Amino acid sequence: MSDIQREKVLIIGSGPAGYTAAIYAARAELEPVMLAGLQFGGQLMLTTEVENFPGFPEGVTGPDLMEMFQKQAERFGTRVLMEDAIRVDFSKRPFQVETESQKFEADAVVLATGASAKWIGLPSEQRLMNQGVSACATCDGALYRDKPMAVVGGGDTAIEEALFLTRYAPKVTLIHRRDELRASKILAERARKNEKIEFAWNARVAEVLGDEFVTGVRLEDVHSGKTRDIVVEALFIAIGHEPNTGIFRDQIALDDTGYIKVDPGTSRTNVEGVFACGDAMDPTYRQAITAAGRGCMAAIDCERWLAEEEAG
Ligand code: NAP
Repeated sequence: MSDIQREKVLIIGSGPAGYTAAIYAARAELEPVMLAGLQFGGQLMLTTEVENFPGFPEGVTGPDLMEMFQKQAERFGTRVLMEDAIRVDFSKRPFQVETESQKFEADAVVLATGASAKWIGLPSEQRLMNQGVSACATCDGALYRDKPMAVVGGGDTAIEEALFLTRYAPKVTLIHRRDELRASKILAERARKNEKIEFAWNARVAEVLGDEFVTGVRLEDVHSGKTRDIVVEALFIAIGHEPNTGIFRDQIALDDTGYIKVDPGTSRTNVEGVFACGDAMDPTYRQAITAAGRGCMAAIDCERWLAEEEAG
């Protein structure tokens, strides 16, 4: 391990939240260092076409968008390191952050580690990712206009996604492993009343069908084990998200589901000098543009806090 590096601002995570925080912090001459992680770029790296990010009327691919974020952050002096933070200590100042190869001390830290969609775990699901398999109806639904689609899950997200997809799809099959929804009554009722939504109860996805693109889904009845195939051209997995906050567990306040708690309307965590933005603190909106907005808030909060600290 090399000598400890002292930084003013360390940003952990490299999705839209982290990069926006970096752009603002760099322009404020805070010379931020970003630990972008080995899987840099966040969830947008798993998306093909992004059509709802303002400023791109023709759409942009997720990886292209993230490359632009990175260039813009670097242009103003952000140092981007493709390393994962593996240990943090926020109990004393300067804060300590470690990667496999380096130790950092930082006056302020911005947490932007995002969240990961949960997947079913089938090889066919992995193989057909972005070829019909997606974890975001808002992002990808319009790509499959006029095609039959399916959503897996029985929570609020699954129902919201199924309802959203009825704008485009002639039919949406909601695949749920039980015969009762977990979703709130109002959403469940709305889905039941929607003629385009069909329910596949007590069903699990045994296989996603298709060579290059999704052509269907093999469903298995959880009780009888019987299988049947349905024709769909898109499969949206909506079985929950997990915030990537494991390494912060004993360091800052998290809610019951692991999301970072912030003071309402700010990016301030319960540790002064540690700020949070993006999907790691937002279970509700989870959009690139809202994460970017939160990243901007974190950089501004951070800059003001550092100025106050310096002024004593
Ligand atoms: P969730 O409430 O945890 O629901 C996940 C769903 O996926 C459950 O129905 C679960 O089945 C199913 N599931 C989990 N693992 C599975 C697997 N391996 N295979 C098949 N099915 C699986 O997650 P969420 O719907 O993303 O919601 C997360 C939180 O955000 C919730 O608190 C929710 O209320 C909130 N939210 C609110 C709104 C809103 O109010 N408009 C919108 C979206 C989200 P079981 O039911 O059998 O466990």
